[in-house]
Amino acid sequence: MGIPGEAIAEIGRELREECGVFAVWSPESTRQGGRVIRGLNILQHRGQDACGIVLLGDEHVCSVKNTGKVEDIPRDKVEEIAAFIGRTGSGHVRYGTVETDDPAKAAGPNLGKARDGRFFYLNHNGTIVSQPREWAPALTDSARLAETFGLQWRENERLPDMVRRVLQSVIGGFALTLVTRDEMIGVVDPNNLRPLILGQLPENKGFVLASESPALEIVGARIVHRLDAGEMVHVTSSGRINREIIFPETKHLECSFESIYFARPDAMLNGNSAQMRRYKMGELLASQAPVDADIVVGVPDSGIPAAQGYAYVSGIRLMNGLVRNRYGGDRSFIQPSDDERVSAVRRKLLADPSVVDGKRLIVVDDSIVRGNTSREIVEMFREAGAIEVHGRISSPTVTNPCYYGIATGDRDQLMASDMTVDEMRVALDMDTLVFLSHQNLNAAIGTTHCGACFGGEYPTKLPIPCGVVRSSPVAVTDESKVFENQRG
Ligand code: AMP
Repeated sequence: MGIPGEAIAEIGRELREECGVFAVWSPESTRQGGRVIRGLNILQHRGQDACGIVLLGDEHVCSVKNTGKVEDIPRDKVEEIAAFIGRTGSGHVRYGTVETDDPAKAAGPNLGKARDGRFFYLNHNGTIVSQPREWAPALTDSARLAETFGLQWRENERLPDMVRRVLQSVIGGFALTLVTRDEMIGVVDPNNLRPLILGQLPENKGFVLASESPALEIVGARIVHRLDAGEMVHVTSSGRINREIIFPETKHLECSFESIYFARPDAMLNGNSAQMRRYKMGELLASQAPVDADIVVGVPDSGIPAAQGYAYVSGIRLMNGLVRNRYGGDRSFIQPSDDERVSAVRRKLLADPSVVDGKRLIVVDDSIVRGNTSREIVEMFREAGAIEVHGRISSPTVTNPCYYGIATGDRDQLMASDMTVDEMRVALDMDTLVFLSHQNLNAAIGTTHCGACFGGEYPTKLPIPCGVVRSSPVAVTDESKVFENQRG
């Protein structure tokens, strides 16, 4: 199904990451539903539009797709899921980049069926930017992948052989899980742009794949391995683990936005947690851009660890100048127009005058994308009596759209794409404004990462026309229409 041009433009206004994925395999049939629900619940920050669960028994399949969060799944369905017996299960939480009347329809896992009746369920986090023109049409790139995998699955071909073969013609940033009744596969793109972690349940009870490590922890699994760039992990029906790099050229370029904003604070990212990286970003920012002020205020939630690091190095006390509404304020990015989104910032956060009145503030946030959040926060601080507001941002300026799963929208919606930092400072009504340098970002992350959104180079070819076609819906291209995107 095609998506009209207007819908594509609308999608670009949203700033959303795509999804969280979870899959489980056990050597024997057992109740898997509780594990999948718990795992998805821990990944909920990765998507709240819709969720889906599928459990595969010897003869039956139990599945649900629901609009909203995992906790919104109807009680009777939860009971059915909890009681279902099978060896494998899979679940998906989704932030949509394809607008649909019924978000549940676009949630994974997606069914893929071979012509001979064999089938699997596929979960997908990320974005397919290019795939062959002859691929099956579908609502989302995830559904398209599942259908195409199924159609291209040859008789007598092993599941991993099909996955390896078909993925060779796919370009993008992706983490996929596939489950059949007795096998499980996890695979990531050749640049490792989207995360996938393999875990092991205790007492040989099986294996788990998840987007973030806390989802393993909640089901009692220990981390075995974060998949390497281009790696496929295959858990066979007998529980053997086969690991293989399936792409000829690979490079470790994990997404910097996972470290900066997206991942849960306690998610382990190659050796340290997201929040320790954010803390380090704050420490480095304080050395890079000191300023005389009375208090440091972090923007909840992902700005807080960086604010703590900034406060520690600067010696300026950290105060809770912004109070977060714990109920219902978390969907500020799901507003149809900019005006509504701006007021949504206040629904989520309010300045506390008793903390900020008469003070010179250093406000630490993780990023400025369109600038709506910062603009609104500074306005609130000024209304609450702040006498100076110094913006300190724990990432570099976001100048380029992401095509790999952090759907930041068109270039012209990115504040830094056509403004200098000083112009941004003026537009945001700040006294000073400094972004973390690229060098300090590199030092805080400590491993090679993708910085395409910070004006870095895109690690893959991109579809024409760049900046118009984005993430889902799928850009249908043939090789002749794909080109190397230039810098900036
Ligand atoms: P903006 O208001 O457009 O400048 O967005 C920046 C704010 O949104 C920051 O406070 C971030 O914490 C948050 N943010 C950054 N990236 C994302 C994303 N992918 N989805 C939702 N919020 C984000």
